[in-house]
Amino acid sequence: MTINSQKISSREQAEAILDKYDYFLFDCDGVLWLGDHLLPHVIETIDLLQSKGKTVLFVTNNSTKCREEYTKKFHKLGFGSVTKEQIVGSSYATAVYIEKIMKLPKDKKIWVLGERGIEIELQEAGYQTLGGTDPELNVDSFDPEHPYFNLDDDVGCVVAGLLFQVNYLKLSLTLQYLLKDNKSIPFVGTNIDSTFPMKGKLLMGAGSIIESVVFASGRQPDAVCGKPNSGMMNTIKAKNEGLKANPLKGLMIGDRLNTDMLFGRNGGLDTLLVLTGIELEQLVSKVEQQPTYYASKLGVIYELTQ
Ligand code: PLP
Ligand code: CA
Repeated sequence: MTINSQKISSREQAEAILDKYDYFLFDCDGVLWLGDHLLPHVIETIDLLQSKGKTVLFVTNNSTKCREEYTKKFHKLGFGSVTKEQIVGSSYATAVYIEKIMKLPKDKKIWVLGERGIEIELQEAGYQTLGGTDPELNVDSFDPEHPYFNLDDDVGCVVAGLLFQVNYLKLSLTLQYLLKDNKSIPFVGTNIDSTFPMKGKLLMGAGSIIESVVFASGRQPDAVCGKPNSGMMNTIKAKNEGLKANPLKGLMIGDRLNTDMLFGRNGGLDTLLVLTGIELEQLVSKVEQQPTYYASKLGVIYELTQ
């Protein structure tokens, strides 16, 4: 099987990329950093792009942090100039979807099976959340007579994503809302990632938590908002007219074929796969999702142009 993607390995190729694109969309984990470990020459690459007046956006499927917290992570790791407006996370995309596409009235509450980042983005959009990280739900024992089983009739949406302190009570309460009123309460997922890497281990991703309540309820989510969903891309295009008018002015850079490369391709953008999070073998085997370009790491764009 041949790889049709162009490998970025010369100065000319790196300069051609800098010339050709005005919008650079970056996946975060596996491209800029691995956990809290910064990858080589990524800050220099981002600075180079910003100095050339490029629009730089960060598109992450990590729903556990809100944009505000993500901005702090960028600053802590040395990306001094990054602002909240440059960050699009799956928790924010979920809030935009519920508010702008679903048009859930603001007097409706949202039941959350997920982390603080999801709660904060939904609250910033004007919704009251239930469940989530409420400490009252952190119980060791399980009791169907827990007061939370008196379901709140104002809940108008269920959001499921990644929750670190997940327990049987929280899963079972989510199930109650998914079954309530003849399964009619809309069900929204944050992102499909089955796993995510941390410190050399593969951990359970949001998709795996969502699957457990999918299985129990017999329902599929009405929408899943993170990459590769087009809703996230539409949110970005709505704020970047030039990209909307000409998606080929944009380059999506990521480390995953089934989220990042598909997301870019579905949005009409060119794509660059970096191999700091995935093996080349996988690139060869998934020929139908081939990116426009690939490179050993993001930092080569800086290194090749110096
Ligand atoms: N979900 C969680 C909980 C994560 O921690 C991560 C990466 O750290 C991801 C998803 C994937 O994020 P990204 O889209 O930035 O690779
Ligand atoms: Ca990634």
